[in-house]
Amino acid sequence: MNIPEIFGTDVFNESVMQQRLPKTVYKSLKKTIQSGKPLDIEVANVVASAMKDWAVEKGCTHYTHWFQPMTGVTAEKHDSFISPIGDGKVIMEFSGKELVKGEPDASSFPSGGLRATFEARGYTAWDPTSYAFIKGKTLCIPTAFCSYTGEALDKKTPLLRSMEALSQSAVRLLKLFGVEDVTRVTANVGPEQEYFLVDRDMYAQRKDLIFTGRTLFGAPAPKGQELEDHYFGMIRTRVNEYMEDLDEQLWRLGICAKTKHNEVAPAQHEMAPIFDTTNIATDHNQLMMEIMKRTARKHGFKCLLHEKPFAGVNGSGKHNNWSISTNTGVNLLDPGTTPSENAQFLTFLVAVIKAVNDYQDLLRASVASAGNDHRLGANEAPPAIISIFLGDELNAIVEALADGHKYEGKGKVQMEIGVDVLPSFPKDSTDRNRTSPFAFTGNKFEFRMPGSRLSCAGPMTILNTIVAEVLDEFYDELSKADNFQSALDDLIKRTISENKNIIFNGNGYSEEWPIEAEKRGLLNLKSTPDAVPVFLADKNVRVLSKHGVYTKVELESRVEILLEEYCKTINIEALTMVDMAKKDILPAVMTYIKELGETAATADALGADVTVEKEMITKLSSLCTAAYKALGELENADAAASDITDIEEMARYYHDVVLVKMAELRAPADQMEALCGEKYWPYPTYEKLMFSASI
Ligand code: ADP
Ligand code: MG
Repeated sequence: MNIPEIFGTDVFNESVMQQRLPKTVYKSLKKTIQSGKPLDIEVANVVASAMKDWAVEKGCTHYTHWFQPMTGVTAEKHDSFISPIGDGKVIMEFSGKELVKGEPDASSFPSGGLRATFEARGYTAWDPTSYAFIKGKTLCIPTAFCSYTGEALDKKTPLLRSMEALSQSAVRLLKLFGVEDVTRVTANVGPEQEYFLVDRDMYAQRKDLIFTGRTLFGAPAPKGQELEDHYFGMIRTRVNEYMEDLDEQLWRLGICAKTKHNEVAPAQHEMAPIFDTTNIATDHNQLMMEIMKRTARKHGFKCLLHEKPFAGVNGSGKHNNWSISTNTGVNLLDPGTTPSENAQFLTFLVAVIKAVNDYQDLLRASVASAGNDHRLGANEAPPAIISIFLGDELNAIVEALADGHKYEGKGKVQMEIGVDVLPSFPKDSTDRNRTSPFAFTGNKFEFRMPGSRLSCAGPMTILNTIVAEVLDEFYDELSKADNFQSALDDLIKRTISENKNIIFNGNGYSEEWPIEAEKRGLLNLKSTPDAVPVFLADKNVRVLSKHGVYTKVELESRVEILLEEYCKTINIEALTMVDMAKKDILPAVMTYIKELGETAATADALGADVTVEKEMITKLSSLCTAAYKALGELENADAAASDITDIEEMARYYHDVVLVKMAELRAPADQMEALCGEKYWPYPTYEKLMFSASI
């Protein structure tokens, strides 16, 4: 395989545009991409026609406006290019109008009340900053999805708005540093995607995996992740074939698949592409998740993207590596090599620290979901507290700056803002604190809280916006100063002092941390019902609407959608558990009990000792009783949820009551699994699910 040759072959990218578009059209399209101005219809017609010719040559018959509604997956409605010309004949046609705007029926997508307030119809609008690509026989056009009155019904629109806000705020602030040539600042993300691969036939035997994406029952396997032999371990043949296939498909789509390795839990893996703008990387990540699933089918696997498919071993995250860079190629989170870069770097660094501290609630809320709750704040998971890790050296500098102490690392006597050169911080993983939810890693921050299934759009939208806000605050202060240098000095030192509470370089998984964090006044929003409502706190509505990212109405709709999704997810899980326990688990255990009874009778007739049989029957029977009782209670508790009308109250009920009842049913069921003969158990066990791919 010649990678450079196949790379991006299925993408209508820069080089294809250059080849296929007349110079003037190409220029005008480029201008649109760079400035974000609407596309002239004449230009759109030429682009559409060229796109269509290119796609048809590659075997396409259809096109679709590819978008990301609030369901979390991508949506597409395929239209063929055909257009009748009389005489029963057709030609392949695609107009500029069709390219720039589509009108899918919005009424079946979640809108969280926006539909009632506004119109049912929605439209999709081409996002020319993300290239069109081919999937199967369809030309996919990345688009934003809005209501007719302009409210965002998707995840891309707010993300684009937040990128714009951040760009404006950063460009303006940079001017105070004498940086005049920067006209755009871009937020980037490199999302590391974790996932599990399980055998497809085994998957098909488990209703919990099919309906909910995670196991709702399952006794631990004799071996878990304690030997830590899976992480970075040799990639097994079948998995390797899958990864190779995946890489090739991603490369064809112009996605820079770069790193792949085994993760900590058995059957868990990771894949990371090279970072891109938060918009493009988000699109690519959505596409990547889809292709990961599709490719798994070909290799007899099921790819599990759920945040916690198995109890007792690690869940899966999507670590968002975030940085901001200028159109002149400067990474603003890179310490740089000159004294003036040091001032600029420290300014952006402390802006991020302040933003994360001021809006820790929003960041936490941006990653909230029923699935991710199992990774954050639940029993075996790290706490849902946001804190920042800076690493030893940077931390020492920051502390010294704030306290006015001397910083004596690396031969330096004292660090002065804008006067000294900062030491270079390690960018490799040696200095990593993997227990920190928000870690500085040399020239970027790694936000590790997002769950594996989550679109990058939500957390990136929040991060971009809150940083824009603090950059504006800084601008307001610095632009009024008579002496820029001393004002900057003061601002940086004060910001560090005031936000030191969010900096934590210790073990975020330790038992002491939540106690210490509480003393520091940090939030610990443990569950989705705790976290999601904070979107509507006054300060959050104010910042998000001020930057034109979400209107209050849009936020209200999102809160409703998120809470509704939470309730629905747990409801489905509860119903699935009841179904499995009733129809499969109890009958299986009873069959086993019957067999034990028959064995006992035979043995007893022969005068043999039947203590073991009796004991096993007694144990299993009492567990059956407990499970049956728990099952009834779960059924009732779940049914009672429908009486609650307020969505926030309902979400709390699901969390406080239904989840608890689910755990009460799981406990005896898992105990029965451990006691029951393997051939009687109705589902493939954890052992089989997690270790089978190694055979
Ligand atoms: P880790 O050691 O955290 O597992 P990986 O190599 O798996 O690191 O992933 C790091 C991710 O960070 C990659 O997606 C990479 O492209 C991305 N990345 C590297 N530099 C930057 C940057 N300046 N801005 C944003 N993302 C970056
Ligand atoms: Mg990694």
